[in-house]
Amino acid sequence: MPQMIPQTDPRANYLAHKAEIDAAIASVLTGGRYILGEQVAAFEREFAAYLGARGTEGATHAIGVGSGTDALHLALRACGVGPGDRVFTVSHTAVATVAAIELAGATPVLVDIDPATFTMDPHRLEEAVRTEDEGRKTGDAGSAAPTVKRQTSVFRRRSAIIPVHLYGHPADMSAILEIARRYDLWVIEDCAQAHGATIDRRKTGTFGDIAAFSFYPTKNLGALGDGGAVVTSDPALAEQTRLLREYGWRERYVSALPGLNSRLDELQAAILRVKLRYLDAENARRRVLAAEYDRLLADSSVRTPATRPGVSHVFHQYVIRSARRDALQAYLRSQGIGTLIHYPAPVHAQPAYAERLSIGEGLPHTEAAAREILSLPMFPELSDEQAAEVAKAINAF
Ligand SMILES: *Cc1c(COP(=O)(O)O)cnc(C)c1O
Repeated sequence: MPQMIPQTDPRANYLAHKAEIDAAIASVLTGGRYILGEQVAAFEREFAAYLGARGTEGATHAIGVGSGTDALHLALRACGVGPGDRVFTVSHTAVATVAAIELAGATPVLVDIDPATFTMDPHRLEEAVRTEDEGRKTGDAGSAAPTVKRQTSVFRRRSAIIPVHLYGHPADMSAILEIARRYDLWVIEDCAQAHGATIDRRKTGTFGDIAAFSFYPTKNLGALGDGGAVVTSDPALAEQTRLLREYGWRERYVSALPGLNSRLDELQAAILRVKLRYLDAENARRRVLAAEYDRLLADSSVRTPATRPGVSHVFHQYVIRSARRDALQAYLRSQGIGTLIHYPAPVHAQPAYAERLSIGEGLPHTEAAAREILSLPMFPELSDEQAAEVAKAINAF
């Protein structure tokens, strides 16, 4: 029985860097400082430097937190988004994106995706924002405060947009930022699947006001446990996030504001510092594998993923579409090939959210995608031969 080809393999990535990771772990264990010490501070500096300075606005700040979900929640809280506020995002995403909005007490408004890139469709976003804005202005003047704030409003910027750079393909940031400026909305990038992805050579996470990263083990930059980071070039938002992640402390044991406990730990930071040094090379390897899949599947019955011009895709997932997706997945499994579906049900169709989230006139492209998508094996240690075997099986199906 030949070896199964897994869909993802975080253990292979650990083994690829085992000596360095083991040494980093040992030094934390013997160092005696396990929470918010020099490893977290160094990782925050190195990750901020990796993402790059943002024009003339100064260096990017990175704040290590407990998970990607917490990073989104803290970013929303840092922006002051909470009860009564609307947050525009997509339903075709990890449930964490929507869960974080509700954790902050805000109300998600879900918009449809562009079927070519699986990311937020700016036209649908604009419709949703305009509808909310007009509803608030005409509907209940004098009662509830408007939740979409124009520049002239004294309640400047209460609502937010969370574009998700899904699968490692950046959302259409120039169109999204233009809408955000026009309606005075915060932009919080969900970068959980897009470490190192760029638009016109600028890294995702530096386009909006603030961004959230996850270091879940299978992400392009993955810890060996939970972890996340908030990134911003705004010093006030950075300071607010630092306070919120640790009980609102500016000074130890004195809460300046009501915060929570969501800290990246020293062990994970030490591991991430090792892995960050290999991120660009591993993203390049993912792109090579994607190009191989593109080439080998060019004449197959499945649709291969598209990349917008000017974008550097980091292929957190390589996602094909097939009208016979379920049969294809079963066939590949029978051939020893692991695949996954990201995600089998859009957030608005999951039991916890069904019938209660705002989806406007519906999300046809989101629902069609959920029926047809399939994530092929994709991780830096996947060999050329294994990728060829996957493509061969798809062509044989
Ligand atoms: C993984 C992920 C998250 C959540 O990250 P956790 O670290 O698992 O909390 C959020 N958004 C997207 C798009 C993700 O893929």
